[in-house]
Amino acid sequence: MTDFTRTRSLFHMPDGVFYLDGNSLGPLPKSATQRVQEMMTAQWGEQLIRGWNASGWMMQPRRLGDRIGKLIGAPEGTVVVGDTLSIKVYQALASALELNPSRRVVLSDNGNFPSDLYMAQGLLRSLDKGYELKVVDPEEVEAAIDESVAVLMITEVDYRTGRLHDMKKLTAKAHAAGVLTVWDLAHSAGALAVDLEGARADFAVGCTYKYLNGGTGAPAFIYVAPKHAGKVRPALSGWLGHESPFAFDLDYRSGAGIDRMRVGTPAVIAMAALDAAMDAWEGVSMADVRKQSIALADLFIREVETRCPELTLASPRNGAERGSQVSFRHPEGYAIMQALIARGVIGDFRAPDAVRFGFTPLYIGEQEVLGAVGVLEDVMNNKRWDEPQYRKKALVT
Ligand SMILES: *Cc1c(COP(=O)(O)O)cnc(C)c1O
Repeated sequence: MTDFTRTRSLFHMPDGVFYLDGNSLGPLPKSATQRVQEMMTAQWGEQLIRGWNASGWMMQPRRLGDRIGKLIGAPEGTVVVGDTLSIKVYQALASALELNPSRRVVLSDNGNFPSDLYMAQGLLRSLDKGYELKVVDPEEVEAAIDESVAVLMITEVDYRTGRLHDMKKLTAKAHAAGVLTVWDLAHSAGALAVDLEGARADFAVGCTYKYLNGGTGAPAFIYVAPKHAGKVRPALSGWLGHESPFAFDLDYRSGAGIDRMRVGTPAVIAMAALDAAMDAWEGVSMADVRKQSIALADLFIREVETRCPELTLASPRNGAERGSQVSFRHPEGYAIMQALIARGVIGDFRAPDAVRFGFTPLYIGEQEVLGAVGVLEDVMNNKRWDEPQYRKKALVT
């Protein structure tokens, strides 16, 4: 059994806060402060450029990739960390398209995170080969998989509603039609049990600042199935993905396997924080996390529906069809969330009308969930959101 009392003690939580937004930015792992400081002083400060070898900075993207791999059903040597998720989406899609050269359709859904769609649009435009990005309703993805499709590019958990796609089933259907898959695990890694190898996913990408608690702007990760990793030709062919970066050849030759998905110099300071964050997952069973996150979200839904009847559930009611977050709709959602945040209940708002709450058993329990519902009840039933200062839109919602 996972000891959630232990994991909770590993994170810093400000006083007076019920934090239900770990799906957007995980909290600070206490050990990260010291780990980063050590990197800055003992490594950067004292070792200077010698740190690349002496402290293993160069292999850090692979080491961290293996640590993340354990949480997403990826064997050692199939995941590498670097860049941002948007960049990794571009890389994965470009490689998948090249592996399926006779087809011209990229299939996605309108529940996908816009950046994934934007990156696809930019890539397809620069390829200039008549590609089409086909975007359907999430419920229609399965039926839209056919032999015209080159790549199915899908985010497993809908960022707005938490609706969960069936990775295994959609991947099997895709393969039967000769379609390759790119799975975005932004709201899956660290939130639920993912089995990339078991689902036979071709490519997967994700970020590390949400459920993995790597810190804001922490680097992303990419997985390439072993059967493809030796074949793909990186579109972003940077020197650290080269077979021999320090040979300084004038022509690109891809590195072995997953190494070729590296691009440029790794963000070593950020990776120190991510490495500390990954320690929290030692001894944690994703099955326990999943079970507890469903229980907390079910409790939240039950209490909110009883006590705040003006809010309409926007997420699947059945925990098995949901990721680790719950959204409710209300026309004044933005003001409601601002009023909650002013009272220490931190979730977020997703246009046009969703208030969103994340459930993260590593550091959140029943007490926080019930505390948050109490504040929400007060905000709703006493219309505390109806104040001009709560309607002022900030840059980040
Ligand atoms: C959070 C998220 C992103 C963000 O991409 P960045 O490049 O890290 O800013 C992209 N896609 C999905 C599905 C996300 O949930």
